[in-house]
Amino acid sequence: MEFKGFNLIKLLLLTQCLTVLCASEDFDFFYLVQQWPGSYCDTMKACCYPTSGKPVANFGIHGLWPNRKDGSYPSNCDPNSPFNPSEISDLTSNLQSEWPTLACPSNDGTGFWTHEWEKHGTCSESKLKQHDYFATALALKQKTNLLKALTSAGIKPDGESYTLSAIKEAIKKGVGFTPYIECNVDKSRNSQLYQVYLCVDASGLNLIECPVFPRGQCGSSIEFPTF
Ligand code: AMP
Ligand code: AMP
Repeated sequence: MEFKGFNLIKLLLLTQCLTVLCASEDFDFFYLVQQWPGSYCDTMKACCYPTSGKPVANFGIHGLWPNRKDGSYPSNCDPNSPFNPSEISDLTSNLQSEWPTLACPSNDGTGFWTHEWEKHGTCSESKLKQHDYFATALALKQKTNLLKALTSAGIKPDGESYTLSAIKEAIKKGVGFTPYIECNVDKSRNSQLYQVYLCVDASGLNLIECPVFPRGQCGSSIEFPTF
């Protein structure tokens, strides 16, 4: 009897452990991805300002993405952990200004935050629960004033073109870490500054040099559009 009971407990513990393991995915670090709204909005695809109004002319958060050193990344890790706005109600006004949606039709941002939480956030749930995930991204953005780093080096959102090396150097000098720069193209097919990737350790607390950069290339001359 005693022996059987012990086995039952062991079995229960094992299934519990497996459930936890299945819901948690491995990752080594995060990309903190920030986006220039002018470059999201001046492409062939339309953008729409959020219902709270036109965002300020600053970089906005796109996401905090768990990644692996081999360049791969987990996604959509936990269907049992849907986005729950009531868990982050204290962060809503900060999210509206720092993590603004630009998707159409115009909306309050919940759709964008839901997508980011469900695709990426659920993959770092072992380290950051929903409230901490959003609070961590907001705190990291505050530590990295990209627009100030760029403008201090004379790189302004004025529709002019700058070199990739000047942009990278300005951010390295201002923020302390080497960024990855992602470009997209405007309606005239000019390469422009779209997103800036910085790396963060798996705790979400510290910026680090990137263990691996995403693939992709900008033109040598990169436009910095107005917004
Ligand atoms: P992800 O799936 O996290 O790699 O993000 C890509 C998706 O986010 C695409 O569907 C984009 O259209 C969308 N997206 C990117 N920037 C924004 C934004 N500022 N507002 C709303 N959706 C966005
Ligand atoms: P390449 O121009 O491909 O020879 O790259 C030279 C260095 O710049 C490598 O360390 C690349 O990882 C890095 N690099 C290339 N493109 C980018 C980019 N868009 N943003 C940041 N670093 C880049």
